[in-house]
Amino acid sequence: MALVNQQRSLYPWLMKDYVALAKDFSNNRLHHAVLLSAAEGLGVEQLAQRLVELIHCENPNSNKACGVCQQCLLHNSHSHADYYFVSCLEGKAQISIEQIRQLSKKAQGTGLVSQKRIVVIDCVELMTESAANALLKILEEPPAHVYFILTTSKVQHLVPTIISRCFKVLIASPDIRKTHGWLVKKTQKDVNIGYLSLLGNSPLKALEAIDNNLLPQLSLYVESLNKLYVSWANKQFNESFCHGVDVVELFEKMQKDKAINTNIDFLISITQRFNQYVLKQQFSIESGSQGEELLSLALQNSLATLSPKALIHFSDRLVSLNRILSQNSGVNISTQLGRYINEVTENIIHSKEWRDD
Ligand SMILES: [Zn+2]
Repeated sequence: MALVNQQRSLYPWLMKDYVALAKDFSNNRLHHAVLLSAAEGLGVEQLAQRLVELIHCENPNSNKACGVCQQCLLHNSHSHADYYFVSCLEGKAQISIEQIRQLSKKAQGTGLVSQKRIVVIDCVELMTESAANALLKILEEPPAHVYFILTTSKVQHLVPTIISRCFKVLIASPDIRKTHGWLVKKTQKDVNIGYLSLLGNSPLKALEAIDNNLLPQLSLYVESLNKLYVSWANKQFNESFCHGVDVVELFEKMQKDKAINTNIDFLISITQRFNQYVLKQQFSIESGSQGEELLSLALQNSLATLSPKALIHFSDRLVSLNRILSQNSGVNISTQLGRYINEVTENIIHSKEWRDD
């Protein structure tokens, strides 16, 4: 029974939207295509899964799947024949038209163990243009008794015609203090709330970082960034800081450390967030509790003399870094980060005009 309960669990920040969708379902008002949109690291796929189980369950109880009927048992053993899960195949960057064609065939057929057939498309924004067109055709003339549940963390990358065919659920990120409370309870560790800001207030990314023992390294990385910014602000350069040697070395180390297994885009986003918080501080923008918490973690020194132009320039360079990464051009990202840091340093040393390119 413990296993059943565990399988039916739901992250607290997903509960409100689940209850609303479950009520729609029990009132026969659930749209045939539901688009679940949430920031990364909120575990939206869990909400999709709970919804699938509820739709198939023969005997739902208080808007939850019972866990013991034939349909539930099939889901528990991951062998429900009328449930189709589509996601990006391993080694591929996109969901292909062939994958959508296959699911279309299945959706047009009849149910094998249930009248209701359910399709979940994970990271639906990764569809190729032709795959998206194929899906659109299905959604325009949906087969009877078929539910589509689409999930995305980048709804802006989806074609508007698909969005307009769906019932869109925008899942809000939880309040950072609630996330923090959940994390402390879950890990039984006293986690500095500032890390949550750095990790984009994503509870599951933070949990992963803690499980992979990433926080000590992250702390060193933030410290090295802080030193770099202070040397920029004070225009006091020594060889190590002004060229970002520490920053680049730690960036490289975290990237290569197999135990940590950190994605480069994750490291770039952390660097970008740090930069944004400092920038907000420069413009005295009220950044709310998230920014304050981060600053209490990271910035021990006043950076008031640091030129906002330098920060904006560096921010643009981090965007470029992301672009280079996505182009898969073989450029070494940490070396490139070092070049960009150097560029900012040189501009500060020589009081150069900031280039706009
Ligand atoms: Zn059931």
